[in-house]
Formats: sequence, C-alpha cells, structure tokens
Amino acid sequence: MRWSFKIGKLFGIDLKVHITFLLILVWGALNYGGSAGPLYGVLVTLSLFALVVLHELGHSLAAMWYGIPVRDITLLPIGGVARLERMPEKPIQELVVAIAGPAVNVVLAAMLLPVVLGLGIFQTNALTLGLIMEPGLLGLSSFLLFANISLLVFNMIPAFPLDGGRVLRASIGLFTNYQRATQIAVSIGRALAILLGIFALYEGQIFLTFIAFFIFIAGSQEGQAVAARGLLRRVQARQALRENRVALSPYATVGQVASMMLSNPQTNFAVLDPADGQFLGVATSGRISEAMQSGQWHRRITEVMDHAKTIPTIALSTTLDEVQDKLAEASTQFVAVYDGLHFKGVITTNDIYRVFQFLSQSGYASQKFAA
Ligand SMILES: [Zn+2]
Repeated sequence: MRWSFKIGKLFGIDLKVHITFLLILVWGALNYGGSAGPLYGVLVTLSLFALVVLHELGHSLAAMWYGIPVRDITLLPIGGVARLERMPEKPIQELVVAIAGPAVNVVLAAMLLPVVLGLGIFQTNALTLGLIMEPGLLGLSSFLLFANISLLVFNMIPAFPLDGGRVLRASIGLFTNYQRATQIAVSIGRALAILLGIFALYEGQIFLTFIAFFIFIAGSQEGQAVAARGLLRRVQARQALRENRVALSPYATVGQVASMMLSNPQTNFAVLDPADGQFLGVATSGRISEAMQSGQWHRRITEVMDHAKTIPTIALSTTLDEVQDKLAEASTQFVAVYDGLHFKGVITTNDIYRVFQFLSQSGYASQKFAA
C-alpha cells in the first residue's frame, strides 16, 4: 500500500502503518484523553490498535499454518488489513483462517473480563458504561473489553468483506461447491446490507449508511471475482496463447523495434536467441517508448527489456486463474509459457482480460455454477 511505513516484524510478517494512521493518534489524543491528558488518549488509541494487530495476527498465523504466505499487516485509521498471498478455497481452511481473527478477540475478552470485574469490585460499587471513559487501569481495561466485544460482533456480521461473510461462505461450502457457496453468501450479505441501510437511514445514522453501502458493493465485487475465477479456471494457458506473434532478435535496436511498432498492434515482444530459440526476455511498448523519449534509439533491445529471470514461468496446462495468481504474486504484467524446456510464448494481463471478455459475452458465464 502506498504511503505505508514498516514499524516492525512479528512472526516474520512486516507490520506497517499507513501515514493517515498518525491522524487517528491525534484524534485519539483529543478524544480519549479526558482529564488525564492527551498522552493517555494516545495510550488508549495504541492499545485499541494492539487489539487490531492481534486480530490480524490470528488470521495470519492460521494462513501460515496452511502454507499461505502473508505479505504484511497494515494499520489504517479504519482498522487493520492482513494481506494474504491468496485466500484458501478449501472450505475448512477458509473457515479456520476467517474465524482465527475473531477467536483472538474472544480469548482477549475472556482474559479482560476477570480483570475488569476484579478491579471493579475494589474501585467502584457499580460497573457502568461511563467507566469506559474514565482514565485509569479500570477504565482502560473496561474500554478494551468493550472494544473486543465490538470488534467481535462487527466482524462476525455474515457479509463480505467481513470475517462473518467468509465464515458463512466456508460453512455453506462444506455442503456445496465454492461458486455456489459464494453466490448464496453474497445474496445473504446483500440482503443484510440493504436491511442495515434502511435501518441506518431511518435512524439518520450517516456513518452506518455508508458502511451498509460499502458492504453491499464489496459483496457484489466478491461475487464477480469468484465468478470470473470460475470462468478462467476452464481455460488453459495453451488456449490463451496468441498465434503469429512477432518475436525479436537480441540484436534489434530500440529504434528498429519502435518503427516496427507503428505497423504492429502488439504491445510486447518476446526476445529470443536466434541460435537456439532460448527465451531471453520481454520488450514492452512502454519501455521502448521510454527509451525513445530519452533519445536511446540506438540501444540494443536487450538493454531495455525485462530479463527472463525476472519473469514467472508456467506450463502449457496451467489454468488462467492460476496464471492470474502468479501475476499478482510477482506484481508483473506477463508470464512466460513453457512446454517442458521449450519456450512457447508470453501471456499478459491483457490476454487474460480478452479471454474473460470472450467467455462472459459468449454465454459461457450463464453456466458458471454448473461445475
Ligand atoms: Zn478479521
């Protein structure tokens, strides 16, 4: 995420904060400080976000248990995000990963409850909600207990992108396929979002209306993404390879390729060794025009291309949903397709989009839940 800074490492996972997080500290200092002053407000806010980190760690450690790498945990003013390389599609794994976060809040609440009760008996004769805002150990632990329960309840609302939505899909997925389970979970989530929206509007709660709207949109997006994956899973790399593509010799210059590009709609070119057909890299139109703009038209194409060793490779039989994962993992625009040791061609994000467009327009999509 842009404007995020690494502040530490937990269990091998980078912990980052977004720059806007600093604003929430200021807000917390003013809002939670009370009679104890702004420093106490900062302490309260930081402990709140410690809860969020522990929640995200719950998801992350469960994912790592299943061999799914975790890129990082980022703290934003609205909460935390653990970026998993992928979400497990096996229902039981998704269930465990989704529930591990809220489970942390259950454990923390169970640990805080005796503290609050114990301190409460000695300090006051009645435990009230007003206590939460009172500076001190009792106030802070009551606040954290309350925050834990709120986090738990909110996250378990059965709608995407909340944990509850994933728990719901995974639970339905135990009885039917992933696509169908997603469709049902999305419908339930949208219905809840509409109910929540109506309630929020009726009550005049603008923030809640916004959340309801967000949940509705996120549900639709999840549904579309899963449907798209289902379509792409039916196509192998060999079917998506474009024929009659022009490949370049490593001796070509930037200027030569640029003039060739005028008459060729290709936006990227594989560079092959003329002697043995070995794949050397990919020259993109972007890199070529960059080089032209800085007057490097005489340079060899090999000097401006992306080298083969930096490009992920796949087999002819790899399905396009896996190709999509590879592209996302490596944050690149193309993969090299091999048949054993033989280079067969390049597949780009555009090629995947083209296949997807074709499939969804040709009526293939209407049978997407048949599998
Ligand atoms: Zn969560």
